[in-house]
Amino acid sequence: MCDDVLMFAFPGLPEPRLVLAGEYPLWDEALAAVNRDLAVTVPEQRPLRLIAYPESEDLDEHVHVALSTGEAHDSCLIPAESVAEALVAVADAAQGTLTEHLWRAWPLCTLHDLGLHPREVDGRPSWWCAGGSRRGDPAHVRAAIGELGTLQRPVRPHRKRPENRGLR
Ligand SMILES: [Zn+2]
Repeated sequence: MCDDVLMFAFPGLPEPRLVLAGEYPLWDEALAAVNRDLAVTVPEQRPLRLIAYPESEDLDEHVHVALSTGEAHDSCLIPAESVAEALVAVADAAQGTLTEHLWRAWPLCTLHDLGLHPREVDGRPSWWCAGGSRRGDPAHVRAAIGELGTLQRPVRPHRKRPENRGLR
């Protein structure tokens, strides 16, 4: 499987190249959505990009979702037939690269503190959470892929700081 190509350096393989805008329109569109989710969850992380390993003797060109540095893990894309399919595939690949790079689950369900999984639910590409372990806390869709930014922030009680009183 091509998943392993970037994880082990194969001396015989050609250098990867940056994929140009428009070469893979479905993946471009999907990556833009996933980058929106990245920007709201890990603001310090630069947007992800597509890189391709050119065709070689026994392999077709294959595309990975990579960091801006070219680093990619377990992120090979399988050709998609629809935007929905592309969104799930790109989100999955982005998750592979980011989880390995950040050394933590990405993205998180802020309700359960669990890693979300990309999957199509009722025809909608979604970030799905396995839910809590207690009864009555079932699996749920946290947000559509690309729409994590529309979620409300977890409510945290504002602590009054008495020491700040009277400073204005
Ligand atoms: Zn959850």
